[in-house]
Amino acid sequence: MMTIDAYDSGLLHSNMYVIRDNGHAVVIDPCSDTEPGRNVTVDWILLTHEHYDHISGVNAWKTGTGARVLCSKSCADRLGDPNKTLTRLFPIFCEMQTWFELDSVPQTDLAYTCEADRTFEQETVFQWQGHEIRLTETPGHSPGSILILLDNRYLFSGDTIFEDRPVALRFPGGSARQWEEWGKPAVSRLPDGLQVYPGHFRPFILHGQQKGKEE
Ligand SMILES: [Zn+2]
Repeated sequence: MMTIDAYDSGLLHSNMYVIRDNGHAVVIDPCSDTEPGRNVTVDWILLTHEHYDHISGVNAWKTGTGARVLCSKSCADRLGDPNKTLTRLFPIFCEMQTWFELDSVPQTDLAYTCEADRTFEQETVFQWQGHEIRLTETPGHSPGSILILLDNRYLFSGDTIFEDRPVALRFPGGSARQWEEWGKPAVSRLPDGLQVYPGHFRPFILHGQQKGKEE
């Protein structure tokens, strides 16, 4: 039976997800404060986008499990630049955040980079352990942002869709124009009723009102 587990990272409370079935796993947005699991074969590391709080554990999980990293080409193109992943700005963001409370600002390697093994443009679909995984580019929050749809039912939305908060387009690399022309139309085509696992905050059921909000 397939399971989906969420791990709340101390890094801006970003969510890492692990999908498991048949002794295999797919990890979404691995964070540095988690340990690669034992007794499970991790086949893929998927990245919803390139921001530091969603990629901090990529190297540890890649080395620990041998899994390959798959993300959009735009995301991959930025993983090697700590400015484009906002890694260098990360401690400042932590200091400035007001919409949640951190006990302390996490220790951060300001020069952290990582690499993708496979990339796609626009959209790609593949089979994993009898499940369909569909990745769709939805730039706006960042150039490399994507949605990950599992079995047409579970949606890993990164920082692109939240339950009651608009998509943030103002970070460096964010683009209202890309969002209007590309990200938002893709989001508005999603069917209502999907179970959404966002990159921050709690899971929720998608309904019309959440599609196309912006700051
Ligand atoms: Zn982000």
